[in-house]
Amino acid sequence: MDKNIVIRSADKGGGIVIQDYSKYRLEILNQLSDSNTYLKLNGDPTIQVKCLIENVLQTGLEQDFLDQDLWEFLHQSNPRTPMIYPPPKVHKNLQDPPGRPIISAVGGILEPLARWLDFLFKETIESLPTYIKDTPNFIHLISTVNLPIEPVSLVTCDINSLYTIIAHAGGVQAMRQILLDSKKYEDPSIDYVMEILELVLTQNYFHFELDWYRQLAGTSMGASMAPIYANGYMFGFESQHILEPFKDIIMICGCYIDDIFMIVEGDTSVAEVYKLRCPCGLTYIGNTDLPLRERIRNHRSSIRVAYRDQKSDLPVAKHFLEQGHTLPTLKLMAIDHIPVPRKGGDRKKMLLQRELYWIRTLRTVYPNGLNEKYTLSAFL
Ligand SMILES: [Zn+2]
Repeated sequence: MDKNIVIRSADKGGGIVIQDYSKYRLEILNQLSDSNTYLKLNGDPTIQVKCLIENVLQTGLEQDFLDQDLWEFLHQSNPRTPMIYPPPKVHKNLQDPPGRPIISAVGGILEPLARWLDFLFKETIESLPTYIKDTPNFIHLISTVNLPIEPVSLVTCDINSLYTIIAHAGGVQAMRQILLDSKKYEDPSIDYVMEILELVLTQNYFHFELDWYRQLAGTSMGASMAPIYANGYMFGFESQHILEPFKDIIMICGCYIDDIFMIVEGDTSVAEVYKLRCPCGLTYIGNTDLPLRERIRNHRSSIRVAYRDQKSDLPVAKHFLEQGHTLPTLKLMAIDHIPVPRKGGDRKKMLLQRELYWIRTLRTVYPNGLNEKYTLSAFL
């Protein structure tokens, strides 16, 4: 066995990745150095965790939440030590792939409890109104919607590293609410289930090389109840921040763990005035009907062309070339948004009027700024 290499299956695409152990190790240590997510322990915490589990199971037995069979199932007599094994994300970077922080919980001391939680929550979570189970389920969902003639917008969003960022208190609160609202859930008592959930979340430990760690937020990706927990947390988040405030315009909303898909009534297209400030302090005001990120890309490419040709007719690119400003110094900021006019009206014209307003207010016409002399055509 060659200890200098590590062989892992890739995070996506089904490939096999052979990596230098030193690089793999560096990536893991780098992730573990995030003190908001991981705490380094003084030693193996298995005995303490075992005590906590004994206590909570004893309570369950005494209060009749558990029968003898379940009590036995929830004991892991010869637990394996959980360890971190991040599958390399070679789709992100082929040379130095980041790793998805998965902790193998199979056979771990908390695994039976996590499996029980998964079982207890499953039916309730799967009956949530936005829950998407799989692809056929999603296709069924979008086939049920009747699109009106009015403009509609398709909205998608996802959450960065959801599994490791859910704060325990917020997660437990969301799961409690789901059981409280559920018509299907019966027993054991919600308080007892929450006690078990808290135990599984807060005692989530693992080792890497000779050191022991505890995960401080979120759930380990390898835990059996991780998808159910993430789904439940996200439902709480969506209800509060999306479903309730935008209930009048959402036509459909479906969620698959950290991916949200919606069709909403109305036009969500962009119409913004933005401000660009160059390193020597001059300002340019522009308008865009593209997302700002794309508008930046357009500015960048015109500057690149200006450098290549050593000339440009565009005011920003021309100035960057003349002053030798570099590309990374280019920054844009949205300063005004023109909503879709409710009773009709020329949005493009309104956008130009707002742009002109800002050019005047911030006095950005050359030589005070980078805008060329404006015309009054927008007001005509
Ligand atoms: Zn400048």
